[in-house]
Amino acid sequence: MAKSRSPQRLLFPRLPAWERDAQGEVLVARVLFPRGPQGQFDYRVPPGLWDKIEVGMRVRVPLGPSDRLRVGYCVALMHEHPQPQQLKEVAQLLDSQPLLTPQLLELSQWMARRYVCPWPTVLEGMIPAGVRSGSGKRWATVLELAPGAREKASKLQLSRKQLLALEHLASASEPMRAEELARAAGCTLAPIRALRQKGLVRARRVRLRTAVVEQKPLPARQEPFEPTPQQRQALEAILQALRQRRHEVFLLHGITGSGKTEVYLQAIAHVVSSGRQAIVLVPEISLTPQTRQRFEARLGRVALLHSHLSDAQRSWYWEQIARGQVNVVIGARSAIFAPTPQLGLIVVDEEHESSFKQENAPRYHAREVALRRGQLEGVPVVLGSATPSLESYHAAQQGHFRLLRLTQRINRLPLPQVKLIDLRLVLHPHRASSLLSPPLQNAMREVLQEGGQVILLLNRRGYSPHVQCPACGHTMQCPHCEISLTYHRQDAVVLCHYCQYELPAPSRCVECGFAGIRFFGWGTQRLEAEVQRRFPGYRALRMDTDAMRRPGSHQQALEAFQRGEVQILLGTQMIAKGLDFPRVHLVGVINADTALHLPDFRASERTFQLLVQVAGRAGRGDRRGLVLVQSFTPEHPVLQCAAAQQYEQFAQTELKHRQELGYPPFGHLARVVVRGPVAQRALAWAQQAAQRVSEELRAQVPQGRLLGPAPAPLARLRGHYRFHFQVLVPGEVPLWDLLDQTLRSLKPPEEIHLIVDVDPVNML
Ligand code: ADP
Ligand code: ZN
Repeated sequence: MAKSRSPQRLLFPRLPAWERDAQGEVLVARVLFPRGPQGQFDYRVPPGLWDKIEVGMRVRVPLGPSDRLRVGYCVALMHEHPQPQQLKEVAQLLDSQPLLTPQLLELSQWMARRYVCPWPTVLEGMIPAGVRSGSGKRWATVLELAPGAREKASKLQLSRKQLLALEHLASASEPMRAEELARAAGCTLAPIRALRQKGLVRARRVRLRTAVVEQKPLPARQEPFEPTPQQRQALEAILQALRQRRHEVFLLHGITGSGKTEVYLQAIAHVVSSGRQAIVLVPEISLTPQTRQRFEARLGRVALLHSHLSDAQRSWYWEQIARGQVNVVIGARSAIFAPTPQLGLIVVDEEHESSFKQENAPRYHAREVALRRGQLEGVPVVLGSATPSLESYHAAQQGHFRLLRLTQRINRLPLPQVKLIDLRLVLHPHRASSLLSPPLQNAMREVLQEGGQVILLLNRRGYSPHVQCPACGHTMQCPHCEISLTYHRQDAVVLCHYCQYELPAPSRCVECGFAGIRFFGWGTQRLEAEVQRRFPGYRALRMDTDAMRRPGSHQQALEAFQRGEVQILLGTQMIAKGLDFPRVHLVGVINADTALHLPDFRASERTFQLLVQVAGRAGRGDRRGLVLVQSFTPEHPVLQCAAAQQYEQFAQTELKHRQELGYPPFGHLARVVVRGPVAQRALAWAQQAAQRVSEELRAQVPQGRLLGPAPAPLARLRGHYRFHFQVLVPGEVPLWDLLDQTLRSLKPPEEIHLIVDVDPVNML
């Protein structure tokens, strides 16, 4: 961790501890408890810890009438207190280095307020579990030179072995264990024991790291490309902010394949050459060995923080980062908390991705946290996307962000041609429906015959999402979630996609016993079966969370596609992002309507983004790509805009719509979900909470609106009944303080859960 001292510490006169104590000076630590009472508690720091304690370390302190020792975070140190003698004392210090830099601590405080989340919960969410538990470390006794050892040694008679051991220890960069020192000096333990007896070497108990991450050699260095004029313009703007070391937000709006990553790489190279570090946030799916390779070949050591790291590995990386030994940190949302000692730049790639929002407490949005961290540390933030979020686009229009545009693909190839196929016209209403319309089949045949590759998107996994009895009409639902069960033919089960409840696929209706149970609707497994049936001469590969359960399977699938062993890649939105394969001449979207009609004000935005992203997979080689989009409502304006790849037009229309309704980015929204095992009781608490919030709104923000309470779209989930209401306030009115005050006063019983989600991304 960076040795940056908090300002309070610098106020201290450098007097020995005992003198300060004698002069009646005090040092008071302010402590928060992750498990225990809410609020902040003050403790006297005993003089023996004055030189060791720092803000951001954990302490053990007595709490309550029984003085049970509890672990808490020290979040401030003060040398003033009205009645210091009445305070209890810090019993023990748990960390030898702060777990957070002062800036990260400040960031955590901001998050607590912004996301209506207890501050200690935020801290625990920021610091990886492996770091908190000291994963991959164990206690050991290490040796170091005693103070004044050099002078003493010159006066003593030492054997050659003793001298050698002493020299090795003196030149070691870190304290060593006795065995390590013996090995390094080529001696036994006897001379080392002698050195300890003579008072030249002393022992100390520390936590030593046992497991480390294997470091592969860096790949061959690659030179940067000569930037295109548009890239150069974007880069110049970013470099200027970097040179002046000031905070500024850039929205890099570049169509797919326009060279955004190259702009990041060159900007980061500048940061690295000045001895600072960069954080790059990407969606989890992009955290591949290729990404690491691409960044390491240009920038040196990279920490790639993906979700398959063990606690020990994560904690090892955390330490490397804190020591400044990593130039670039690449990771999904939590990488925004990387303890870089000298941050120079933050990049958020695919900034529109909803996966940057955390769905459990602290419910933060990594893009917003990135903006705040950039501001706190005074560094530029680059947000990149082919389809910027409406929040970011609006901020750019308002002049808060600087818009940088890349409007051309690198090889100057035109964007693919997108055609909508009206399923109402091509599907026969009475015959068993095919997932592949005749025009799509023809286009596939043509591309495949010429040696090209095809990507098919269907955003629904399983075989069919409805299991219904044609005799009595009974639909199979999850008993815990009241959601239709999805038939998975591969495993011969019916499965709930929310709670994983599963049953063997029935051959008879569970209600009436009729033997002809039917599976309706389209899922990726069904698509796979149809593709194999219609294109027997080609290899198809399915990519969805069912097929990609083993770590590394995603990687293998992509490599097989890359090598051309697989000609048809089909799957859920997993295949829509980032893939860059020159022989993909055709992309087919099986059903563009799936996401369009969800009860969520972002449904249009998501659909637009998904279609443009997946369309961008086509035509990356030397031939113009073709994208065929099947839909039952091709006249829908969102689909029309997506087909024309008219981002601006889409954004203007959708922003106007949002403005009329007061939805983000024109206001702030919070969603309060109340859930419990008994429907009546959950509803009663939801009503009470809504009542209080609405009174407070009337008093403080009369323009604010409260919608609900009503059953949540997923009204029953994992056996719990769920009700929700939404609070909408215009403009920049901060909603969080109001919610915090109001909801804090409610004291629901234990089985009732009350969840606040500020600016939610998931509305179900
Ligand atoms: P994006 O991130 O916008 O999708 P990339 O940065 O991945 O685009 O660039 C697309 C392709 O073009 C990559 O293969 C990249 O190596 C290449 N490329 C990027 N910039 C240049 C350049 N200035 N000259 C030549 N090739 C480039
Ligand atoms: Zn369920």
